Amino acid sequence: MRCGQGIEARQVDELFINIDPIQAAGRLTGDAMKAVIAYGDGYSVCDNCRKPNRLDYIAKPPIAEFHKDVAKWLNMDAVRTVPGARRGFQAVAQTYVKKGDPVLLTSLSHYTEFMAVEGAGGIAREIPVGDDKRVTPDAAAAKIEEVKREFGRAPVLAFIDHVDYQYGNIHDVAAIAKVAHQYDIPVVYNGAYTVGVMPVDGKALGVDFVVGSGHKSMAAPAPSGILAATAERENEVFRTTAIEGDVTKRRFGIKEPEMMGCTLMGVTLVGMMASFPHVKERTLHFDRELANHHVVMDALLSIEGTTCMSEYPRKHTMTRINTIESFDTVAETHKKRGYYLQSALEERGITGIIPGATKIWKFNTYGTTKKQAEHLAGAFVEIARENGLTVRE
Ligand SMILES: *Cc1c(COP(=O)(O)O)cnc(C)c1O
Repeated sequence: MRCGQGIEARQVDELFINIDPIQAAGRLTGDAMKAVIAYGDGYSVCDNCRKPNRLDYIAKPPIAEFHKDVAKWLNMDAVRTVPGARRGFQAVAQTYVKKGDPVLLTSLSHYTEFMAVEGAGGIAREIPVGDDKRVTPDAAAAKIEEVKREFGRAPVLAFIDHVDYQYGNIHDVAAIAKVAHQYDIPVVYNGAYTVGVMPVDGKALGVDFVVGSGHKSMAAPAPSGILAATAERENEVFRTTAIEGDVTKRRFGIKEPEMMGCTLMGVTLVGMMASFPHVKERTLHFDRELANHHVVMDALLSIEGTTCMSEYPRKHTMTRINTIESFDTVAETHKKRGYYLQSALEERGITGIIPGATKIWKFNTYGTTKKQAEHLAGAFVEIARENGLTVRE
């Protein structure tokens, strides 16, 4: 099937178990797929936009209700939808960061946080991680003091990833936020790997903002995401426009400059909304996801020479694994070189690992059934055995 000249229908999640670290929890639900078809047209959510004209006020489809539900679900006070977590970071950075201001990031921060800081003219200062690849409140305090000595003032904003993209480790955001607040630093909770995957309670975490990614973790089309704020902060980041045209004297009412007025105007938003009830439900069963992940981890770690680079036992389904002493030793002599692993996995209906990677790679089992997890586990062990690696019973 083709969607047009040169555009073939993508059939990845239909034909394979996809363990791509960034795609697993963004895979659409059946309801989101229906929404994609029904709301594909441009500005399709605007049919029933009435005064005051703003996306988050639209009642049909129930966009206003969705905003309230998401705020309640995250235990935050106000929510807006944004075209990706990165646009959430950007809105917050543009609100608090002026040229030359120091901003607190971590040694595991995602590049999009750096982009947001750069765009606002800020200067990145990273909390270093310990040997265990975790960001601690003590390291945060030490870094803030260091920034104060360097700049004569504390950072104006902090971005803390609850689960980082490199190791999938869980960091103690609540404790770090507490430290940051002692210096009056607003804290952005980066939930790109958590919002939509596991329960998130903004008030319990004590953060000022919660950012989530629709296409990474909420089974939504790209680009989509959410930015939630506390009541204390919502009037800052979601302030309304004050600009006026000098000739026409036009003003723009309740439009919000950080949201460029309106954000997700069709398929992205309705896709996210359609998946939401499923997403809400699935976060309550993250234990099942972890159990399935451990089935695969046990199999991988039974292959001699394989080590887990992420914290262990795993607390998230996205893991960084080191197979330099196992799968990579085969690549040296295999006729397919490093591509043998991906190729052997695809023969078994598995995709999502970087082609050619046999040294250090990441995978995510989110959304697999127990049966699929067992198939994954069996496949890794079988490929190892076939290639002469030792597998512990
Ligand atoms: C994927 C990711 C992002 C970016 O999310 P988008 O929704 O694509 O903007 C930000 N932070 C982390 C930790 C991520 O893993």
